[in-house]
Amino acid sequence: MCACIFISAGIVASSSNAQRTANFDSVTPTEDCLINRILNKSCISQPGITNPQISPNSIPTYNPNLPEKERFISAIMSKLSEIPNQGSFEYILLRQYGAVFINNNSLIKLPPKVLFINSQETKQYQTTLTMGKVNTGNNCYLQKAAADALNKSRTQTNISLKSGNGGGDCTRTFETNLRFWRKYANNNTLEKVRQGKETRILSIVAPPGTSQHLWGLAVDLRVSNSKQREVLNQNGWFQTVEGDIPHWTYLGVSEDNLSQLGFRKKIVGNISYWLTPL
Ligand SMILES: [Zn+2]
Repeated sequence: MCACIFISAGIVASSSNAQRTANFDSVTPTEDCLINRILNKSCISQPGITNPQISPNSIPTYNPNLPEKERFISAIMSKLSEIPNQGSFEYILLRQYGAVFINNNSLIKLPPKVLFINSQETKQYQTTLTMGKVNTGNNCYLQKAAADALNKSRTQTNISLKSGNGGGDCTRTFETNLRFWRKYANNNTLEKVRQGKETRILSIVAPPGTSQHLWGLAVDLRVSNSKQREVLNQNGWFQTVEGDIPHWTYLGVSEDNLSQLGFRKKIVGNISYWLTPL
């Protein structure tokens, strides 16, 4: 009698274990991550594992049934080692500057996180980039795919840099970014940004260690007409930071892809901004 109860209890236990294992197996790392993300938890994904074969200029796969925000997060989560928690400083930065993380071009190297803590960390990342020279201005370098796309745009219509100085308009060092920040803001501003109480400054200048210019994927241009905007869009360049009029971001996809990936289009005056849905 006793032995019988023991055995049947054992069978129940082992079958529920088997079920639990099967359930875990049916959830891929990506889905698991997305579920955590929706539950507002920090989400650690494994870059490269969920999408190992990336070809230049392909767009990440997306599920059209998901809402914008989830579509966007699905597209970026294989690129970032961690999707920050909602409300954190990193989340605010991802919302403001994270458009680049949808880039699926294998020739583009995305930063592993939205915020570099110092000059050394920034340099360490920047030295791994394949850069290309933009054929205008003084020493303007961008990641090669971005430089090529801008050079191609310039063969189609006349487009020049905002100041002409590549060190400011194109890829910036940590120090240049910091210098720009200090011109417009200070530690009090940074604290307010961290607490989510100040966001307007993020359209004027990026806080230290976080700028699309550090990543070699942004350029400040003098653009004044719709032909120039059209050509830039056709070559994968878009305006992704609302209010930062000269600032262009290399996304490397077509305009149609942007709404598929969850971006929100916002028209202000004659400018169409493509904003992250975060
Ligand atoms: Zn800029």
